Amino acid sequence: MKQLMDVGIIGGGPAGLNAALVLGRARKNVVVIDEARPRNRVTRETHGFLTRDGVAPGEFRRIAREQILAYPSVQFVDEAAVTITGVDGNFLITTAQGNTYRTKKLLFAVGMKDLPVDIDGLADVYGKSAFVCPYCDGWELRDQSLVILTKGARALHMAKILAGWTEQYVVCTNGPDELTDEQREELKQHHVSVYESPILRIESDNGMVQKILLEDGTIVPCTGIFFAPKLAAGSDIPQTLGCQMTEAGTIVVDAFGKTNLPGVYSAGDAASEMYQAIAAASLGSLAAVGINSELLAEAWDHKG
Ligand SMILES: Cc1cc2nc3c(=O)[nH]c(=O)nc-3n(C[C@H](O)[C@H](O)[C@H](O)COP(=O)(O)OP(=O)(O)OC[C@H]3O[C@@H](n4cnc5c(N)ncnc54)[C@H](O)[C@@H]3O)c2cc1C
Repeated sequence: MKQLMDVGIIGGGPAGLNAALVLGRARKNVVVIDEARPRNRVTRETHGFLTRDGVAPGEFRRIAREQILAYPSVQFVDEAAVTITGVDGNFLITTAQGNTYRTKKLLFAVGMKDLPVDIDGLADVYGKSAFVCPYCDGWELRDQSLVILTKGARALHMAKILAGWTEQYVVCTNGPDELTDEQREELKQHHVSVYESPILRIESDNGMVQKILLEDGTIVPCTGIFFAPKLAAGSDIPQTLGCQMTEAGTIVVDAFGKTNLPGVYSAGDAASEMYQAIAAASLGSLAAVGINSELLAEAWDHKG
């Protein structure tokens, strides 16, 4: 029979790593299982994380692992978890390679994943000059000519936010704009042009967008794009296990990352809609405290 470990963390991004750090320092036996396919792998730099502003995502993980491995009760497994069975106190995690791990508690830090966007040329620029969040990458594109690539209420929302970084931007909705008359009027009053024609392709040079060609012949020159891909849960396992999910595909948790299932926690993008690395790390830390408190209480009661 395999050793029963304290915590199995599925996902080794900022959330899972910070949880591992806190749990390792709390002297818990932890296995971090990570297939290393984070959403931000397309990007060259992560911004806005204090002391790590501008670091490459891979370098962030390397430094984090180096620091965590100073705590000998944490181990990393570079594999995908494929099934999890069991209940609080005795979960069984099986990886794609057939390895198994038994843990008392589970933390899902599986992030989110982008659903594919069918626009010719977008993949070439994603993470280099096309981004999803102005807080993450707006500074690098400040005062440039930008395109907001989305429709409906989201387009208006993004237009209001992007005004903090540049005054030169238009909206391409790639088909019917799905705006209400009021929303259309609001954009007009703020001199934001809206192009509804479907996108033919995005032209770029070495990842840097140069123009967007529309089917009606319009050419929209620009040096950056913000768009809003549809997201899906980073893994199906939490839902399969019975975790309650939101409509947005995130896991429902309390302030310490506890899900509706006993012994099962979640943190980071998987359990919030903040989509910021430092927020994910912070939620991972909180979940680690929640898990550790539960383990300590159980051990205390067992001895009493
Ligand atoms: C293009 C882009 C740029 C961004 N730029 C910034 C930025 O500049 N600043 C910022 O603060 N934020 C940025 N973000 C957001 C930031 O990357 C995320 O908020 C953060 O990475 C979330 O951390 P996480 O640990 O929750 O999830 P992730 O970092 O996504 O990590 C989840 C991990 O879980 C693994 N996983 C999932 N399922 C399994 C499984 N079954 N078995 C094993 N492993 C599994 C994944 O492979 C992945 O490694 C950006 C996002 C994108 C898409």
